[in-house]
Amino acid sequence: MSIRKVTVLGTGVLGAQIAFQTAYSGFDITAYDIDDDKIASARKTMEKLGQAYLNDLPDATADRITETTARISYATDLAQAVKQADLVIEAIPEILDLKNKVYAELGRVAPSETIFATNSSTLLPSDMAAATGRPERFLALHFANNIWLHNTAEVMGHAKTDPAIFDEIVGFAKEIGMVPIEVKKEQPGYVLNSLLVPFLRAASGLLVKGIASAEDIDKTWKIGTGAPAGPFEIYDTVGLNTAYNVAMTGDDTQKEFAAYIKEHYIDKGKLGRATGEGFYTYQS
Ligand code: NAD
Repeated sequence: MSIRKVTVLGTGVLGAQIAFQTAYSGFDITAYDIDDDKIASARKTMEKLGQAYLNDLPDATADRITETTARISYATDLAQAVKQADLVIEAIPEILDLKNKVYAELGRVAPSETIFATNSSTLLPSDMAAATGRPERFLALHFANNIWLHNTAEVMGHAKTDPAIFDEIVGFAKEIGMVPIEVKKEQPGYVLNSLLVPFLRAASGLLVKGIASAEDIDKTWKIGTGAPAGPFEIYDTVGLNTAYNVAMTGDDTQKEFAAYIKEHYIDKGKLGRATGEGFYTYQS
């Protein structure tokens, strides 16, 4: 089966980007959300994404953005949204019960050959496979935020995913301009967060134990390895609210770091790059 029609469930931060990038790559997209207000804000998000593509991508033209927008249709009726879908990419909130409820309904209304992929960052496909009613046609396809710039797509099946479906999704990821990362076994955090979370935790541990300043830790990493960004620059890019939430799930040192960023940054409205200030100050 070749994938032509794609439905994206959820038009929030990631869902809108996935829908736009897929349409930009020539696929017909249906973007589904729960009500008309969400669809209205999705349309606005798509306009902003068009502007971002024009600013950031040398191959983006006004005509191509217009064509992209025209390939996206919107729906609030799930059965209607998926009735012709070859692939459904789910990007709804990170709540297991909600995802399983939606997969159960999706499994009932979607054609039996439709492939389902979750963009979940922290749940495993095996947590949801049974609810889909088609575990062999279900896997994770995990994008990074700002998909048009950070274009990895981690493809991760569970024990019962059909290898042919895995390969098909790897091919699809390439077709939409992603660099597919084949994750061969289920792994919480995929490849990227399996590397990034311990790295950031080591850096924040050095900071709260008073070993070195954020600036010196970043300098050490950048000069010592040639990396373009240090851990605290990465924290600012990820956003300090997310950094706080992740740190709160860690050990005592991580909880100390959470309290530190709350007091010094979050409570002062400094949330990182998005607000122009975090560990560092940024030009708008
Ligand atoms: P978000 O809160 O921005 O968007 C979620 C969207 O889902 C909203 O538009 C909401 O109205 C919609 N929704 C809620 N219930 C729904 C339902 N029953 N059916 C369909 N849509 C429904 O969330 P997000 O940040 O885009 O995250 C979505 C998923 O993507 C999560 O699984 C998250 O782990 C993953 N993800 C997020 C990021 C990120 O940086 N934000 C990165 C990679 C993966």
